[in-house]
Amino acid sequence: MDTSSAATLYIDGHWSTADSGATFDVTDPSSGKVIGRAADAGAAETERAIAAAAEAFPHWRAQNAYTRATALVRVHELMLERAEELAQLMSLEQGKPLRAARSEVLYGADFLMWFAEEAKRVYGSTIPSPRSNQRLTILRQPVGVVAGITPWNYPVSMITRKVAPAVAAGCTILVKPAEQTPLCAQAVVEIFDEAELPPGVVNLITTSQPAEVGDALLRSRAVRKLTFTGSTEVGKMLAGRATATMKRVSLELGGHAPFIVFEDSDVEHAAKGAALVKFLNTGQACISPNRIYVQRSVIDRFVDVLTDRARRLRPGGGLDESATIGPLIDASALAKMERQVADATQKGARVMTGGERLRGDGLANGYFFAPTVLTEISPAMSIYQEETFGPIAPVIVFDTEDEVVAMANDTDYGLASYVYTNDLARAVRVSEALRFGIVGINDINPTAAAAPFGGTGESGLGREGGAQGIDEYLDVKLVGHVLA
Ligand code: ADP
Repeated sequence: MDTSSAATLYIDGHWSTADSGATFDVTDPSSGKVIGRAADAGAAETERAIAAAAEAFPHWRAQNAYTRATALVRVHELMLERAEELAQLMSLEQGKPLRAARSEVLYGADFLMWFAEEAKRVYGSTIPSPRSNQRLTILRQPVGVVAGITPWNYPVSMITRKVAPAVAAGCTILVKPAEQTPLCAQAVVEIFDEAELPPGVVNLITTSQPAEVGDALLRSRAVRKLTFTGSTEVGKMLAGRATATMKRVSLELGGHAPFIVFEDSDVEHAAKGAALVKFLNTGQACISPNRIYVQRSVIDRFVDVLTDRARRLRPGGGLDESATIGPLIDASALAKMERQVADATQKGARVMTGGERLRGDGLANGYFFAPTVLTEISPAMSIYQEETFGPIAPVIVFDTEDEVVAMANDTDYGLASYVYTNDLARAVRVSEALRFGIVGINDINPTAAAAPFGGTGESGLGREGGAQGIDEYLDVKLVGHVLA
């Protein structure tokens, strides 16, 4: 692979540039500097990648599960060998601190091993028939060619979370990464190339024109499944259009996670946890706490600790080893923070710390926003209703359990939620009452490759990871057999 020529397309086992030679710049969000270029593909290259995946499919599905598992184990091994290189690239291209990038690479690699193992557990079943000379058997078979559209916030793990189950199930796949992070995608696909998966099993299309590539994917009858991680707005649009060719769809969309702190919890521990998960990836995660509800008697203590933690964060570029919080991804993300803070303060919110763009100490050319804590939040503020996707922690007071459950559930989203309590019965009651796909009880990281990740409502459809993750890539076939 030759990066200087922006040969970031991987079609049928070959690296290439766009047909037109067009490229687009990739920038470091901490400095605004151009760090590389990617091929700017359109419909023609996409159609070729779909054709390659379609041609590879019958051969790949015919490989036995052990062969597919062995291939993924090899990719896993190579990803671990390349972990530091991948982490450095991720920090540069996406902006997260190196420590966070290193842990994302390991999380991304976990999906390879998990689904290598799951490949061997694609069990069918038999059903007792009401007729004695009939046998009913269920087979689970790969859906076919998959299109995977991935986001920039977790630019390695969101690819392996889709490619690993697809490949394990016997599908072939075309990945279209976000335009902000094509180089991470290239580096991941390079590992699949090195592991010598057969040509066409994994393909990569980079573009700055997602709509054109998206249209080609949607119109194709060969693409049987769309898996998407990104905004609710784009996800809804793609899912709606996927019905024209009746593709299977799984979606990981936005979130508006409540983080509930009861007075019977370890409040200091809860505040430290809130700071860790809120400012993780600079708040750019769909499971980031977006509404922090704290019971009235403990709110002052909670806000003190949270504010102190926010102040101690050290903003810096991804490759700056001392940085503990990175930049936002781009100027529009920064503008959204400024809008949400202005709207909230105008409507009575108090800024405990932060609240503005950071320009000092070499940060001026990057998209840095100060880690922010807001109190006196009310439902009329946009931050109460909209996903923030940035480093702003809005704290809301509540009095009773019923009240906070109702407030937490009062959103169309339903991805992650967090509860801090030391009352066992309350933990059970509240986790059952929250209308979210994921609940963390005194737990800021209720995710793992082995666990199903996904949301309810407008947070999406389907699950990734866990035993459920491979189901999204398998069709159920019933075979009825009458004995002679
Ligand atoms: P965000 O606002 O966080 O960048 P998006 O939903 O826009 O989230 O992006 C997630 C992924 O969806 C990216 O890979 C992006 O390129 C892709 N995308 C955006 N618009 C379209 C579209 N019209 N068709 C296909 N993919 C799209």
